[in-house]
Amino acid sequence: MDAGTIQDDTRIRAALPTIQYLLEHEARVIICSHLGRPRGRVVGRLSLRPIAAHLERLLGRPVAFIGQTVGPQVTQEAESLGPGELLLLENTRFNPQETANQVQFARDLAALGDSFINDAFGTIHRAHASTEGVAHHLPNAAGLLLEREIHFLETALKEPARPFVAVLGGAKISDKIGLLASLIERTEALVIGGGMANTFLAAQGLDMANSLVDAESFESALELSEIAGAKFNLPGDAVVAEAASIEASSQVVDVDQVPGGWRVLDIGPETLKAFSTTVEQARTVFWNGPMGVFELAPFAAGTVGLATAIAQSEALSIVGGGDSVSAVRQAGLEHQITHLSTGGGAALALLEGKRLPGLEVLQA
Ligand code: AMP
Repeated sequence: MDAGTIQDDTRIRAALPTIQYLLEHEARVIICSHLGRPRGRVVGRLSLRPIAAHLERLLGRPVAFIGQTVGPQVTQEAESLGPGELLLLENTRFNPQETANQVQFARDLAALGDSFINDAFGTIHRAHASTEGVAHHLPNAAGLLLEREIHFLETALKEPARPFVAVLGGAKISDKIGLLASLIERTEALVIGGGMANTFLAAQGLDMANSLVDAESFESALELSEIAGAKFNLPGDAVVAEAASIEASSQVVDVDQVPGGWRVLDIGPETLKAFSTTVEQARTVFWNGPMGVFELAPFAAGTVGLATAIAQSEALSIVGGGDSVSAVRQAGLEHQITHLSTGGGAALALLEGKRLPGLEVLQA
């Protein structure tokens, strides 16, 4: 993929309502954002310049771009902005002061404007200069996207219509243990697929052969299984293959029959049926993480099938995390989901009950 090609503009589009609102009210709009992890250095392929061009197309009006984030030239450009005009700054993370949340850098950003609107839900769990630091120096508020995300994830999940079912998948459990513990308390049923399920099954003594298994998490897996008891729904059958490739031979087996040298790469059809039934009975569903290696067509049926079950259910449905959101889009089901979150890590942090410094600092 060429640098500068925008593969997925979901988050850019999600920011449009706030930008449009500000423009309609004749604000002078200075946008700061980041792309990737340049680790405080200027990395050409992570420049926001192509984003300015894309924003121009989406908004149908000019978007000025400046190849710096702060400094005299930026100040000059900001001062010359007229009402209803836009300026996009360069990737904030080109400056090491951004992730360090350095006070002077936050002050320099704040000096560019009269008020600060945070609409970056995806980084709300981080205390960075452009997400948290700057809010200390300006009157501030949440943008429309941030408001919507918090509404669904916090309000709806704090007092969910019950049964509340959470579906979790993805590669590993090590970074989701806190989340699992929190969801066990909040939900009526926890559905587990993907590589994550392998670890729970292996911890119970099943031979998962060459499957992805997080052996260091066995102890946590056993503890969580014990607390969850009957709430846990683990796969009973699986699609296994000799390798994670589209050419490899594959078959469906029960999870206690994984052939030596083979690996589990998707949930099986019986499991999909059982998981879909659980989802159908829910009145609130939260989903994060694919049921298998859905990037490869032979192992996508579980993830796509589950996305379909969630889309068809009457439940209020919330999908968080890049992979699950792209699976929903791939299946063309995005309009049948109540809320597709723009923040994977941020959504999980919120559900886990972690502090959200970018939100705590806001006045409204
Ligand atoms: P995560 O970032 O933890 O949500 O993990 C997403 C990744 O998990 C995707 O790239 C999937 O291909 C991968 N994944 C899901 N199920 C499996 C599995 N059974 N074995 C290996 N990888 C998997």
